[in-house]
Amino acid sequence: MNISFQNSLDFARQMDQADPLKSYREQFHIPVQESGEPYIYFCGNSLGCQPKSVRAFIETELKDWEMLGVEGHFHAKNPWMPYHEFLTESSARIVGALPEEVVVMNSLTVNLHLMMASFYRPDAKRYKIMIEADAFPSDIYAVKSQLIHHGFDPEEGLIMLQPKEGEHCVWQEDIEAAIRENGDQLALILLGGVNYYTGQVFDFEKITKIGHEVGAKVGFDLAHAVGNIQLKLHDWNVDFACWCTYKYLNSGPGGVGGCFVHVRNASDKNLPRFAGWWGHDKETRFQMGPEFDPIPTAEGWQLSNAPVLAMASLRASLAIFDEVGMDGLVEKSKKLTGYLLFLLQDIGPEIEIITPSDPKQRGCQLSLLTGANGREIFERITKAGIICDWREPNVIRLAPVPLYNSFEDVWRFAEILKD
Ligand SMILES: *Cc1c(COP(=O)(O)O)cnc(C)c1O
Repeated sequence: MNISFQNSLDFARQMDQADPLKSYREQFHIPVQESGEPYIYFCGNSLGCQPKSVRAFIETELKDWEMLGVEGHFHAKNPWMPYHEFLTESSARIVGALPEEVVVMNSLTVNLHLMMASFYRPDAKRYKIMIEADAFPSDIYAVKSQLIHHGFDPEEGLIMLQPKEGEHCVWQEDIEAAIRENGDQLALILLGGVNYYTGQVFDFEKITKIGHEVGAKVGFDLAHAVGNIQLKLHDWNVDFACWCTYKYLNSGPGGVGGCFVHVRNASDKNLPRFAGWWGHDKETRFQMGPEFDPIPTAEGWQLSNAPVLAMASLRASLAIFDEVGMDGLVEKSKKLTGYLLFLLQDIGPEIEIITPSDPKQRGCQLSLLTGANGREIFERITKAGIICDWREPNVIRLAPVPLYNSFEDVWRFAEILKD
């Protein structure tokens, strides 16, 4: 990218004028301050803004429920029985998967456990799990509880990837070395596709390849990757992946999760799993027989019937992603985050960013390391109309989201921070 950025409001506005996605901001509710001014909302990595279309999507289902009751399972405008299927193709495009490799269901941590029931199959020799030391706590709790569930000592069975002394990211060569070093004992590698704390993007394809070479299964938590960076889960040959949809996918608080199972695994009906009736073959599900016959796709991991209201809001958001496409989104994202990085560097050397500066190794998020007065800075910029987030002990995470943030937002943010 060869844009020579300039630190001025005029320049930021010119960038907005030239932005092919600029009209999409109008399709979202941007939270508003008491003064009536919108916030500078840089927290789409935590909870995405509400698409204005969500209300109509949910109201359609409320109306059909009102008028049809149980008949809505077959006769609603969007029949509820196969409702999850309306989300599959769009989700598959976003994560780079075949439709039969993707299912929208449950929530993220639940799906991680369901995937580990199938892909963490330890024995006395090969039982260790590898994860980042600064992974999202829920993921660490989940893998530790899996180790305990299988009778292993979580302290001994968990390989935590630590950054080198004085650094914040774990570099690719160190990950590869750790995989090779533990190769004989490694059962599962589970990493955040984009680390939630540093914003670092891992090399999915290479980690998967090396993981498979040593005989481990490889899965990714895409909470901070989905809708943020280009993904090619199928081509990368990843065993499984899980994500939530309330961050960059804007499905609303507690939104329904998503799950990828590579077709070479998904088509294997004999793969052990925790089963429920919604994963049963659709033709015979309502014969209500006692033998489980899994659907030979990612849908074979479903437990329960679809939460239609939660899915309706995700549908509204995915319709926007279908229109925009990840290519256009990522193209804008690189410029927008590139501009934020430029402006932060322009403030001076007191600003330390722990996210890799290489655009291939990050998505839209930048994590800013603050000094002793970090909490105070955070509180002051919040008062000045910025919504971003604070992570203990001393990191401010900023996520300019290409769907609804503008170059002007970025410029105004930098002015407030400088102040
Ligand atoms: C947001 C996030 C979660 C949250 O999990 P839920 O089950 O959706 O509550 C878990 N892991 C990571 C990496 C996250 O970023």
